[in-house]
Amino acid sequence: MRVFCASIATETNTFSPLRTDFSDFEQSFYAPPGEHPVTPTLCSAVFPALRKRAQVNELELIEGTATWAEPGGLLNRETWARLKHEVLDQVTSALPLDGVVLGLHGAMIAEGCVDCEGDLIEAIRAIVGPKTVIGASFDPHSHLSQKRVSNADVITVFKEFPHTDFVEAGEACVDLTLRTIKGDIRPVISVFDVRMLDVLPTSQEPMRGFVDQLKQMETTGEVLSASVIHGFMAGDSPDLGAKIIVLTDNDQTKADDIARKLGYELFSFRGQTKPDYLSPVEALKKAQNAVHGPVVVADVWDNPGGGVAGDSTLILEEAIAQKLKSVAFGTIWDPMAVRLCHAAGEGAVFDLRFGGKTSALAGNPIDATVTVVRNKRNAVQSFGASVVPMGDCSVIRLGGIEVVLNSNRSQAFSPDLFTNLGIDISKKKILVVKSTNHFHGAFSDVASEIIYAAVEGPYPNDPTKTRYKNLARPIWPIVKNPHKEVVE
Ligand SMILES: [Zn+2]
Repeated sequence: MRVFCASIATETNTFSPLRTDFSDFEQSFYAPPGEHPVTPTLCSAVFPALRKRAQVNELELIEGTATWAEPGGLLNRETWARLKHEVLDQVTSALPLDGVVLGLHGAMIAEGCVDCEGDLIEAIRAIVGPKTVIGASFDPHSHLSQKRVSNADVITVFKEFPHTDFVEAGEACVDLTLRTIKGDIRPVISVFDVRMLDVLPTSQEPMRGFVDQLKQMETTGEVLSASVIHGFMAGDSPDLGAKIIVLTDNDQTKADDIARKLGYELFSFRGQTKPDYLSPVEALKKAQNAVHGPVVVADVWDNPGGGVAGDSTLILEEAIAQKLKSVAFGTIWDPMAVRLCHAAGEGAVFDLRFGGKTSALAGNPIDATVTVVRNKRNAVQSFGASVVPMGDCSVIRLGGIEVVLNSNRSQAFSPDLFTNLGIDISKKKILVVKSTNHFHGAFSDVASEIIYAAVEGPYPNDPTKTRYKNLARPIWPIVKNPHKEVVE
């Protein structure tokens, strides 16, 4: 059994002031064939899963490129063409193939291509022919097009947000693909367009119970796979919005029925899934009044994981104005400031301008006399089993506030983003992190309380106000009742 795998992944915020090119992939993660590390990245978990199966001689594995760029702005045309053709050439030289397994994100948009993953899967199908089994794994914050569904045999999606189950989703994709190649199953796919767009954290109800239900259906064998595409509101895609995806063993009617039932159940959750979001002033006040620390305050919209720069200073300005003490911020992206701090050296006290540089909506740069507490080359943080590079970093202190400045954009995943830089979080009252919900998995173990703060910035967080050009379908909340069958 000859199986090829590759992974090209990023999440494109088409409204971001940033742009994405090949150097962004190199900076985040780029592994040529054979050089994928032992640990998975978020979207490349199919690599270690396939290696495990190859080690027991179940298959012959031909590895292609695996790469990931931190979510950012529109991908330029040349970068997309380069990555796509790199993988297509690898597929061509690997022929004949029984299977192709792709670790994708699913929200990549390039100049001139609104559906990069659909484009890729279609091109691979054209090379391998109709008999080769194609499996693809996606992040739920993606756009599911018909092109992807028509050209793939197996689709799996991370069920959890935070994506604590990315390894399981990769393994499930591999398992279903191999079973299909062997002829043990004949998967059919049904997609139900839920026509809604909301933030759907699974760390709380009603999504918690919904995901448990999906897992139960897989465990009992009722379906081969059932998952939810949440959609990604910062991507201007014709396929924007939530979709249910169900795979059954050669029973299209059953798959359609289940997908439809689950779809209407999910639609009934609209407007009730988001955690309570406080203003920056309220969030810091509440955190300051807590008896025990550390209280984690999430800057939910200035999330580099959603494709914005992550250099907003709006909460920091508020913390400075309130003269807060015992606060650590992780992180503010500012490679230039990091360079100055490294040049100044640990212990240096100097005037530094940092943050607030990429968007008029992300606050002003901070001008302050700072102490350089710590400099570190190639700092990292962890995200489950995966290691996330933060580039050269510096910790600076201004009054009672410490700020981690990073040079590789990255959202906050884990408390080790602080501890790896020598910050003792048990002694901090407040930790401010930039992340919508991925921080929740690892930070909930150390936080005395978690507070979500909504700060208006460059991220398009209200679909009713965002000017989508490619969206032609009616979706909630832009349209109040997009399903004519549903009676309010
Ligand atoms: Zn995601």
